[in-house]
Amino acid sequence: ATDINSLLAEYVNLAYHGMRAKDASFNITIESDCDPEIGEVEVVPQDISRVFLNIINNACYSTHKKKQEIGDEFSPHLLVKTKNMGERVEIRIRDNGKGIKLEVLDKIFNPFFTTKPAGEGTGLGLSISHDIVVQQHRGEMKVETEPESYAEFIIKLPKKSIKS
Ligand code: ADP
Ligand code: MG
Repeated sequence: ATDINSLLAEYVNLAYHGMRAKDASFNITIESDCDPEIGEVEVVPQDISRVFLNIINNACYSTHKKKQEIGDEFSPHLLVKTKNMGERVEIRIRDNGKGIKLEVLDKIFNPFFTTKPAGEGTGLGLSISHDIVVQQHRGEMKVETEPESYAEFIIKLPKKSIKS
């Protein structure tokens, strides 16, 4: 079984330091609201950590881009939440970046869909993440967004989810 709260904290930290290493002007405040009563979850940690990393990297990218546009009055912020839902756990990762334009919202989980300039994105992160959550773990993955305001990725994982 995996401690989802620790795994999430570890990868939030890793993504943050990765962004800082690439660009020292990057910064973001991180708020975490993790349910201590989450319980143990059966997941493949290497794969679920990839999902976290993909989502957090996208969140950091989006807030960084917004800061480059708006300037210093904008403060990048990341909120990570976990919640025990009984048979399932819910994980929410929300950023206050550029949000997702409604006309591309139904495409973001497609392989190779990206709005990033060549060299900055492959368009594979969310499609792989979606497969890991939905196919491999029988979970759910969706997004809520308001363009120019926020994007929030919501993952639901059964506590016993691994296909045998
Ligand atoms: P990539 O990061 O290589 O573009 P992804 O599959 O990770 O590929 O994401 C696909 C697209 O979804 C991104 O190019 C972007 O348009 C959109 N997207 C994903 N996460 C966010 C986010 N947090 N905020 C705004 N847009 C996002
Ligand atoms: Mg990505």
